[in-house]
Amino acid sequence: MMSLWFCENKMKKIEVVVAGGGFAGISFIEGMGGGADDVSITLVDPSPDSIFRPLLPDVIAGKVRLEHCRYSLPEYCRSRRVRFLEKAASGLEGETRLVLDDGTGLDFDYLVVACGADPEYHGNQSARKHAFTLYSAQDAARLSATINAVLEKGEATSFVVVGGGYTGLETATALKYRIRKRVGREAAGRFPVKVAELAPRILAGLSDTIAGPAREEVRRLGIEVITSAGLGEIGEDWIKINGKRISPAVTIWSAGVSGVDFLTTLPFEKDKKGRIKVNSRLHSPGREDIFVLGDCASFESGGSPLRMAVHFSLAQGKIASGNLLGRLNDLSPHSYHSVDYGYLVPLASGKAWGKVLGIRVGGRIGSILHYLMSVYRSWGMRNRWGVVKDLLVRR
Ligand SMILES: Cc1cc2nc3c(=O)[nH]c(=O)nc-3n(C[C@H](O)[C@H](O)[C@H](O)COP(=O)(O)OP(=O)(O)OC[C@H]3O[C@@H](n4cnc5c(N)ncnc54)[C@H](O)[C@@H]3O)c2cc1C
Repeated sequence: MMSLWFCENKMKKIEVVVAGGGFAGISFIEGMGGGADDVSITLVDPSPDSIFRPLLPDVIAGKVRLEHCRYSLPEYCRSRRVRFLEKAASGLEGETRLVLDDGTGLDFDYLVVACGADPEYHGNQSARKHAFTLYSAQDAARLSATINAVLEKGEATSFVVVGGGYTGLETATALKYRIRKRVGREAAGRFPVKVAELAPRILAGLSDTIAGPAREEVRRLGIEVITSAGLGEIGEDWIKINGKRISPAVTIWSAGVSGVDFLTTLPFEKDKKGRIKVNSRLHSPGREDIFVLGDCASFESGGSPLRMAVHFSLAQGKIASGNLLGRLNDLSPHSYHSVDYGYLVPLASGKAWGKVLGIRVGGRIGSILHYLMSVYRSWGMRNRWGVVKDLLVRR
């Protein structure tokens, strides 16, 4: 039997606003089956494209074309009866109105917060101003253009990646790969790639059985690793590490992530990284009308928040949409139980190390698994085929 609440609301459309069209946002919309006669969905995102971030290092390596990592949100929304607004969520007004960056607002019955994460600068303003990052299509295009310009000019220049975690090492090996491919192994010596890590070891969070071979591969590729790096100021074409100025240098910042600015405006409890703490139904406690998903959500599993990864975002989008459809049909909600399929540290030399379904994998097999998952999880056939072709043709 339908609830009185639902009968009353049958008169008007349920307004659902989704902030963020990344993995979690699209997974949510897919789970809803798009917009319907009784449910209106609006997606807001400041970018017209959903970006497949796991392949951005491959764009830097020159293995995958950037266009195959972009998925047009306006086109997608048209096909799903969803309204798309190319705007950013910037705050809440009262309880049920989302304010956008142009000062307009959207009233909602349900809000989905799925805005991803931003680079964490740890208070280093010079890094914010001068370092490159690798989060968006613009970032990838800007860094690629800079690499080409440096190589064309020919002046000896260092490429310094700050951060020796997964993405830092992916990026460093991608730089090495591109430089060698472009200027040859010998001339590549004029463009050294360095990794500056604040901790005493790179990949410090991983067990030695997985991190060991990855570290060895980084060394074999001729990438200089500076551990316990005391990071000083960063300028437009230089960086100071342990009091020593490296110049000229292109600095790429890969030293962690935190919640996007929009989250700071929301009056919900956050974790140390500024992500919103959510309960098992993916709400901040007390706000059953707001779902928080993906990198924005801090979901406790085994005593610590889940790491940021694509498969968690996709699964959370599915659970949240199922629960919203259930609620509209008077069904009890399901709890989210995180299932960790594992992780890989893919290096541009065509090897990857990590754990998949609890099994340790490494070398070429790891890399093949990374690309299979990337193709499988890309949105749209055009991008899937594009990535396959790029990888097989090896530009
Ligand atoms: C270089 C790199 C490599 C990675 N490799 C891997 C990997 O191999 N495997 C893996 O599992 N994970 C990887 N990750 C992490 C993975 O990309 C994220 O965990 C995943 O994208 C999170 O999905 P999401 O939907 O929460 O956010 P995202 O996919 O980041 O999407 C967020 C969306 O929100 C939009 N947005 C931002 N601010 C606002 C706002 N104020 N209002 C509205 N919209 C907004 C953004 O434009 C974006 O479209 C990688 C990340 C990076 C940066």
